[in-house]
Amino acid sequence: MHPLASLAALSASPAAISHLFDQLTGAAQTWLFVTLVQPLLWHLHMMDMDDLAYDGLLWVVYGALQVLLLYLVLRPLEWLAPLERWENRRGIGTDVIYTLVNRLGLLPLILFLTLQPLFDLALAWLHLHGLDNLNLDALWPGMSLHPLAGFLIYLVVLDFAGYWYHRWQHQIGWWWELHAVHHSQRKLSMWADDRNHFLDDALQAAFFAALALVIGVPPAQFVALTLVGGALQSVQHANIRFDFGRIGERLLVGPRFHRLHHAVGFGHELGHGNRARLYGCNFGVLLPWWDMLFGSADFSTPTQPTGVRAQLPSPAGLGENYGQGLWAQQVLAFVRIGRRIASALRDAAGTRPAT
Ligand SMILES: [Zn+2]
Ligand SMILES: [Zn+2]
Repeated sequence: MHPLASLAALSASPAAISHLFDQLTGAAQTWLFVTLVQPLLWHLHMMDMDDLAYDGLLWVVYGALQVLLLYLVLRPLEWLAPLERWENRRGIGTDVIYTLVNRLGLLPLILFLTLQPLFDLALAWLHLHGLDNLNLDALWPGMSLHPLAGFLIYLVVLDFAGYWYHRWQHQIGWWWELHAVHHSQRKLSMWADDRNHFLDDALQAAFFAALALVIGVPPAQFVALTLVGGALQSVQHANIRFDFGRIGERLLVGPRFHRLHHAVGFGHELGHGNRARLYGCNFGVLLPWWDMLFGSADFSTPTQPTGVRAQLPSPAGLGENYGQGLWAQQVLAFVRIGRRIASALRDAAGTRPAT
C-alpha cells in the first residue's frame, strides 16, 4: 500500500487501522525472517523449523513494538517526574537485558522448545482424567461471539490464579529465594518487571500456559492478554510520581500499590502484626480486588524504600549480596536455596547449636 493511502486508511475506521497494523507487523515479520532467521536456519541445517520460526517472529515484532511504545511513554515521565532520585542508574542496565530477553521472545522461545514435550505429556494426562472439559466456553456457549467479554473473563480468571501464585512465591521458602531476584532491585523503574529468576519464569510460563489451555483461552487472546498484562506491569514498576487516583488504584494495580509490595518491611515481611499480612501485602498482578477480598491490600502506607530487608546493612539487615549482574543474581538464588536446604537438614538431624 502507498504511504499516502495508508494515512488515508488511518482516518477511515478501526477495522482499517487494524488491517494496516496487521500489514505493517506482517511486513516486519517477513523482513526479519528473510534477512536473519532463514539464512541462520539454512546454515544450521534446521530448515524443518521454518514454519515454527516464522510464526514465532510475530512475538518478536509485537514485543519490540510494546517495548518501544512503553519506552516512549514511560521514560520521559520517569525523567520529568521521578518518584525517587538516584545518584546513578547502575544496575538498571541488567533489568533492560532481562526485559529484552523476555519481551522480544528469546526466553519464551527457549521455554517453548524445552517445555513443549512436558506440556504434551501433561495435556494427555489431563485428557485422560477428563479435565479438558473445564473449558469456560462450554459454561457459556455464546462467549466466543463476544470477544471483548471473553477477553475480560479470561483476564479475571487468570489474574485470580496470578494472585495466589504470587502469594505462594512469598510463602514457600525456596520459591521466595527465586522470587527475591525480582524484589532485590532497589531502584524500581519501568525495566524492573522482567527481572526474575529464569527458573521462576519457566515455572510461571508453564503454569499459566497450562491454565489457559485448560480453561480454553483462544491463542490470539492469550497473546493479547500477555501483551496487555506486560504493559500494565511495566507501568506498575515505573519510577514516576503519578498514580491512578483513589478509585482508579482500587480498580487496577497502579505504581503506588505495587511499589508498596516491593517496600522493605511491608511487601514481603510481617509488617504490622496483622495475621492476614503475615507474608506481606499487595500481591495482585493486574487487579487489586483479590487483595481487598482476602485482606492483604494496603492503600494507606506512604511510599517506602524498596528492596529485600536482608540487603540492608547490619543491624537492620544482614548485608546480603543479591548480585549486580544477571548471572550473579541467577546463581546467588541457588546459593540461598542451598543454604536453606543445609539448614533444614541440620535442623532435622538435631545438630543445630542452641541459641
Ligand atoms: Zn512479590
Ligand atoms: Zn514487581
